[in-house]
Amino acid sequence: MALIDSFGRAIRYLRISVTDRCNLQCEYCRPAGGPLMPTHQEMLTLEEIVRLCRLFVGLGIDRMRLTGGEPLLRRNLIWLVTELTALPGLDELSLTTNAMLLDRFAPELRRAGLGRVNISLDTLDPETFARITRGGQLAPVLAGIEAAVAAGLHPVKINMVVMRDVNAHEIPAMIAFAVRYGLVLRFIETMPVGRAGMRTTPHFVPAEEIVALARAGGGAELIPVERSRERGSGPARYFRIAGSDTEVGIISALSRHFCDTCNRMRLTSRGELVLCLGNVDQVDLKTPLRAGASDAELVEIIRAAVDRKPLRHHFDTGPEVVESREMSGLGG
Ligand code: SAM
Repeated sequence: MALIDSFGRAIRYLRISVTDRCNLQCEYCRPAGGPLMPTHQEMLTLEEIVRLCRLFVGLGIDRMRLTGGEPLLRRNLIWLVTELTALPGLDELSLTTNAMLLDRFAPELRRAGLGRVNISLDTLDPETFARITRGGQLAPVLAGIEAAVAAGLHPVKINMVVMRDVNAHEIPAMIAFAVRYGLVLRFIETMPVGRAGMRTTPHFVPAEEIVALARAGGGAELIPVERSRERGSGPARYFRIAGSDTEVGIISALSRHFCDTCNRMRLTSRGELVLCLGNVDQVDLKTPLRAGASDAELVEIIRAAVDRKPLRHHFDTGPEVVESREMSGLGG
């Protein structure tokens, strides 16, 4: 069984935002003053998330990622990880985190069955970190990265949002850091999602320039790595750093959009199914769920939603798209 959208794409991947709360306030992600937070009642309970995920897996979703806000702030997240990893048919569960609390949680997450983590880290400079995150501290994040490696979460992937005049000059240092700790490093083009994301526009660095910056001044030798179609359905283009096993990926949502191989959907903490990060359309699953819909009825709603998945993002054509969402509520 698979979910095939109206353009023939098989949808196999779901990102689940478990909270909108965050312990960092990254400038490009969260609007000044913070996003509009859902009330406790407006958020899906963990049991509701598990019920929906069981249905999604039955429909052929075999990869899931927990995100947020900061997912490690959600109470009883370990219980959720245990329940999800026990779902027959789910091949991979991963987590995207800022690692502020990972030092504490990494061993428990591993024991609960989590396979791997993506950690957001834009800089190795404490002052730049404080500036980007509006006052955050770098040290707990570095401790969290070490804890993830020590706990055997593998691979640990680092996501760096590259910004001109902010951290682009740190690309070589980040590569050296990744090689030293055996991490996969992914450079991410800034996305104009929400009012916060709009702030990144003057700092946008296109993928080709990111590659050039990595190679600059006799820096890293990047050898292109071919990925199988299955792995390649993710949005990154990968290179290996010569003389090491370290892989570097470039995620270019804008300069080389990857919509034709998009295999993903997002579930917000409010129970909305978002078919595309770069379109306003979404489908409410929470209301029917709480109104007593049967599994079969929910499956029908999900199938109808997938039929509406748009062909491509409209970051570049629709200002309403850019302004109507905040990444902090979408989970990246
Ligand atoms: N709090 C967790 C974290 O920091 O990884 C998970 C949620 S965060 C929204 C997920 C990812 O979205 C992070 O890697 C972050 O850098 C990325 N992100 C947020 N806003 C973005 C933007 N405007 N452009 C590109 N990436 C963005």
